[in-house]
Amino acid sequence: MKQFVRPLLASVALCAVLPLPAYAELDVPGLKTAIEASVERDYPQLDALYKDIHAHPEIAFQEVKTAAKLAAEMRAIGFTVTEQVGKTGLVALYKNGEGPTIMVRTELDALPMEEKTGLPYASRDKTMWNGRETFVAHSCGHDIHMASWIGTAKTLIGLKDKWQGTLMFIAQPAEEIVSGARAMLDDGLFKRFPKPDLGFALHDVAIPYGTILYRAGIGSSNSDSLYVKFRGRGGHGAAPQATIDPVVMAARFVVDLQSVISREKDPTEFGVVSIGAIHGGTAENIIPDDVTLLGTIRTFKPEVRAKMLVGIERTARSVAAMSDAPPPEIKITEGAKAVINDADVVAIGEKVLKAAFGDKVRTSPPGTPSEDYSEFVNAGVPSMFFNIGVYEPERVAAARDGSGPPLPPNHSPLFAPVPKPTIETGVTAMTLAVLGAFDAHARGR
Ligand SMILES: [Zn+2]
Ligand SMILES: [Zn+2]
Repeated sequence: MKQFVRPLLASVALCAVLPLPAYAELDVPGLKTAIEASVERDYPQLDALYKDIHAHPEIAFQEVKTAAKLAAEMRAIGFTVTEQVGKTGLVALYKNGEGPTIMVRTELDALPMEEKTGLPYASRDKTMWNGRETFVAHSCGHDIHMASWIGTAKTLIGLKDKWQGTLMFIAQPAEEIVSGARAMLDDGLFKRFPKPDLGFALHDVAIPYGTILYRAGIGSSNSDSLYVKFRGRGGHGAAPQATIDPVVMAARFVVDLQSVISREKDPTEFGVVSIGAIHGGTAENIIPDDVTLLGTIRTFKPEVRAKMLVGIERTARSVAAMSDAPPPEIKITEGAKAVINDADVVAIGEKVLKAAFGDKVRTSPPGTPSEDYSEFVNAGVPSMFFNIGVYEPERVAAARDGSGPPLPPNHSPLFAPVPKPTIETGVTAMTLAVLGAFDAHARGR
């Protein structure tokens, strides 16, 4: 959290000569009551916005109408809004005196799938995607994030005598294809606009509403796609001596590859490589010319990732060399990097969230899915990325003890958050996290 710490140390040094204004301890229960009253007042508009966005979702980099709706809301609240940052992204700024710049991110995009919730506001919209028509649905809950984002902006402006600094609210396109964060950065996000001192983002998950999960350090996985094509020399299955057999190479590779995990990687570190597809050959008595393998590589730490990529490539080349075959074609395509939560920002968030939500705030193990919020973290914004729940606590309990059906997770066609308590928790938690960060800065912590 380097950017944030430096001004803090500077203000501590100033203490010796200039008395700092005295700040009372942040009254979290009092603020929580004020925030909840504000959300209750705003809820009819937030509910209407949520249901409108839910019923009319848009897919990665097509979020034109969604972005326009958010831009209009943010302008009405008093933010200065710039549209089309990273194709369809938004940047909304609100300066309220001297102080740090704090970023709050939402995503804009939905998924190419059919919603089957049967809700009165369910999406029936379709769009073109990769050359074919598809249904579109907010089955990852990014609509919950947008409503919470607007609610948080509105609440913080209502409480602007409680903080000083700049709010930088960004709405990111194309999270589902892990491309939108990079598009915004490539479009000058931290050059044309202030670079935030710290940032927050939330994601909904299938746990009880009113509960919050977080962790310091690794929050999600690095993901890479693997493509390997072994080239041999085809021929008759009865005369293998006249061929170079790529099926044998592929078989050897699938097995030897796991030695990178078991013998080269530190066994206490997370790393997985799985081959999900093998394509080659046509008949039992023909040795094919080539065999292609597709796989996925998941890791948490960059040094573990680097070691695994080197080991996987070496294993593929060695397998080909053992058969006296030409070098294989190897392509490793980088997906998202792991989100690493900053310990200092998490400590700030944890303190206010625990004071407000008590034992409904808990730490969680790192998740193996991937998320491109990591792009902002790696661009130098120390952050806290946390999860909020969406379902009735009784339904979650019944699903857990087997007395009720399993609950649809994110990306299920049946994913159906309960809007009011979920959005209220999102707004309250995010508003308190931001207020906690402004307060920590004001105290020189
Ligand atoms: Zn998703
Ligand atoms: Zn998502």
